[in-house]
Amino acid sequence: MERRNTMQKELTYNTVMSYPGHPSADDVYRLISSEHSTISKATVYRNLSLLSEEGKIGRVESFANGEVHYDHRTEHHYHGHCIRCGKVVDISVPYDKIDILGAEAMEDGFSIISHELIFEGICKECRDKEKEKWN
Ligand SMILES: [Zn+2]
Ligand SMILES: [Zn+2]
Repeated sequence: MERRNTMQKELTYNTVMSYPGHPSADDVYRLISSEHSTISKATVYRNLSLLSEEGKIGRVESFANGEVHYDHRTEHHYHGHCIRCGKVVDISVPYDKIDILGAEAMEDGFSIISHELIFEGICKECRDKEKEKWN
């Protein structure tokens, strides 16, 4: 049993690591179940939570709709959330550029450890699609 749990957790981890973007829990489950039909949705979801708590994978939650996505990158970086297709993309703004704001929060007696920022917008693919429509 223990062994099987470890294998399923590894499988979940490997699926996220080889995914090119930011899969939702459902994306991960669909990929895994296409090859391993015996693994349950609850198991995949539980393993994703465990892996992100352990810091092995990243977790991105959009505040616009509460959708959760997972990430093979675990170092701090910013995300964009597409309001058209719901996709999450990496935004290449340097992380420490915005830490400057921390100085002001410190004056309020708050010590900052990390921060998260999600840009709401429209991804490149959706913008291209919209352009095509008007041509
Ligand atoms: Zn989009
Ligand atoms: Zn990311």
